[in-house]
Amino acid sequence: MTEVTFSGLGLADPLLKALAAEKYTHPTPIQAQAIPLLLEGRDLFGLAQTGTGKTAAFTLPLLQRLNKNQKAPGRNGVRALILAPTRELAVQIGDSIRAYSQFVAIRHTVITGGVPQGRQVKAMSRGVDILVATPGRLLDLVNQRHVDLHSAQTFILDEGDRMFDMGFIRDIRKIVQMLPRERHTMLFSATMPREIEKLAREILNDPAKIEVTPEVITVDRIKQHVFHVQGSRKRDLLHELMADPALSRVIVFTRTKHGANRLADQLVKSGVNADAIHGNKSQGARQRALNDFKDNRSRVLVATDIASRGIDVDDVSHVINFDLPMEAESYVHRIGRTARAGAGGIAISFCDPAEKKYLRDIERLLKRPIDTAENPLGAANDSELRERRDHDQDRDEPRRKPHRGQPAGKKYRARKPEGNKTAGGGGAKQQNGPAKPGGDKPFRRSRPRAA
Ligand code: AMP
Repeated sequence: MTEVTFSGLGLADPLLKALAAEKYTHPTPIQAQAIPLLLEGRDLFGLAQTGTGKTAAFTLPLLQRLNKNQKAPGRNGVRALILAPTRELAVQIGDSIRAYSQFVAIRHTVITGGVPQGRQVKAMSRGVDILVATPGRLLDLVNQRHVDLHSAQTFILDEGDRMFDMGFIRDIRKIVQMLPRERHTMLFSATMPREIEKLAREILNDPAKIEVTPEVITVDRIKQHVFHVQGSRKRDLLHELMADPALSRVIVFTRTKHGANRLADQLVKSGVNADAIHGNKSQGARQRALNDFKDNRSRVLVATDIASRGIDVDDVSHVINFDLPMEAESYVHRIGRTARAGAGGIAISFCDPAEKKYLRDIERLLKRPIDTAENPLGAANDSELRERRDHDQDRDEPRRKPHRGQPAGKKYRARKPEGNKTAGGGGAKQQNGPAKPGGDKPFRRSRPRAA
């Protein structure tokens, strides 16, 4: 696992400050790959969908280059042009530019159809550093001489395949003709039909190519259980569960780094090989922990959310949420560490009464309840029973039938994950996995979460 940081990618302080304000802690894969290349001025062909962080991947280097080389755009002029197929996407890109440019003096505007042109014309009269536009309205305003593209040094075409589907390719070719031949060009597309390949050859000059598919996690292959347990008894419960050899390769999630360290130490003391992985550990220490886990030298890896992003280990038999995540999306991401490469997996969550609201959020996101497992520590105490009853009554939907082979109320028995149940089906990383109806809906991780 390599620790990539935004500053390590060569971004300047005002941008780092903006990213910190946006609470982005780490670059996404497309950002890690694209930013250094774009800062060097390399043309780029990015095969990436929305949700991968591609907007920041092209906006951040653009802002840095424009800011470094301050130059007035001139009347109606544009220093960089970003084309998007839809008004929504253009507005979204504009919002991102505003967020990332809050500490640099860069002027931008968004031009789209469907609204009166008056304001757009006014915004363009002084010229802008960055213009985000949809093709139709842009051509209108160019024809009316409200926009002058001849000095645009950077051209970014977003969602190329959608542009093609929407019949914009001719407009795009017209627009490209108006741009200087010497320029910095980027093309992003979620797929690569032949027409996009052709367009890429026409408009890009010796481009670097980056391909990023968002991680898609199909939660339906993962058997999920929740234990209602007092926080003070979670440790005992974990030790009890670890007595079962079926828990062969286990990732345990805690909310804090300190909690991860403490739990790993306690496991080691009780004779379970374990190590912790979190953001406070050096790169070397993390790598060692990960290698030991991969090579079966440790049976348990205790992790925080942030550290989990680099964990791509096959045959993780169980994921245990020692603490429930505060953000429901993190739950999906966490449990996706098991059931990789088409395999099944088991996810177990410990829910203290104070965490009940997080459980409800998770169940709402999953659109179904998570089965309650009986506490193997023996009869639950009164408050635990009350807690479980409350939980069952609070469910948004009727209680789901227990999984086959696990009668309701039967003491929890961990089972081995069922390997390759869906032979030939997509693994955790599926390209463009279709959203299936009901519970088999794949979740796309839209943004990494901080620990
Ligand atoms: P995009 O693929 O550009 O549409 O971005 C998808 C979402 O991810 C947007 O809501 C961004 O604000 C968010 N995002 C992009 N990069 C990061 C990052 N490095 N850390 C956290 N969130 C991010």
